[in-house]
Amino acid sequence: MAALEVRSITRRYEDRLAVDGLSFSLEPGTILGLVGPNGAGKTTTLRSIAGVLPLQEGRIVVDGADLAEQELEAKRRLAYVPDEPAPFDVLTVDEHLAFTARLYGLKDWRPRADELLERFELAERREALGSELSRGMRQKLSFCCAWLSDPAVVLLDEPLSGLDPRGIRAARAEILELKERGAAVVLSSHLLDLIEVLADRLLILDRGRARFEGTLEEARSAAAGASLEDVFFAVTSRGEAPPEARPRP
Ligand code: ATP
Repeated sequence: MAALEVRSITRRYEDRLAVDGLSFSLEPGTILGLVGPNGAGKTTTLRSIAGVLPLQEGRIVVDGADLAEQELEAKRRLAYVPDEPAPFDVLTVDEHLAFTARLYGLKDWRPRADELLERFELAERREALGSELSRGMRQKLSFCCAWLSDPAVVLLDEPLSGLDPRGIRAARAEILELKERGAAVVLSSHLLDLIEVLADRLLILDRGRARFEGTLEEARSAAAGASLEDVFFAVTSRGEAPPEARPRP
């Protein structure tokens, strides 16, 4: 069973079509690199899968739970780290973790929480309020909360922006660990070298539509062994997939 099924989702903002009939699925233990130019629809796609934006058309199934019919179940199996993490101003770092644990119905979460706080260098800031955290610290807290529940599907929107070098290293290691634990990870980023190192599969979005979907090897061989950057420009510059790349309906 796929960990994540996205079937023909479409999202409009008034008369603007941001995501246009997008479909893909992801197996457990796989990292999908989601790339595309500014405004391609990446954040809208992630927000739709996370259930932050109500689904207008299509179907999303998270670890067997249909987002429309079993909303709580689907959300419980999923973690989402948005591009602009916004912790609660009046909760401390520790209270965010306790709140997440209650929300997900977690037991014995403390050792894992402590491990994550150490890894992301927040252990000293347990008592700091959300409003007192720097941009990078907010990002790190967002990771700690997302990682805590051992989710089946993890959505990461530009996860490394604002992190210091140590934070970047920790985040990369945790993303790979998530994969080893069997999670399906959707990693949206403009950092193609990060995608190249971490992702197993690639989905290139442009103007709301999938222009390429396949393994990284397929992407490179479609462009005669070129770099991921060359593939990106070839697929997005004309707004259409080149004939060699596998087009998506
Ligand atoms: P970026 O790489 O710049 O973050 P993106 O691929 O994440 O871009 P989205 O943020 O999903 O793209 O935006 C897709 C389209 O939807 C864009 O044309 C954008 O202007 C539009 N859009 C996004 N959010 C809204 C909104 N709240 N209201 C109206 N239009 C929106």
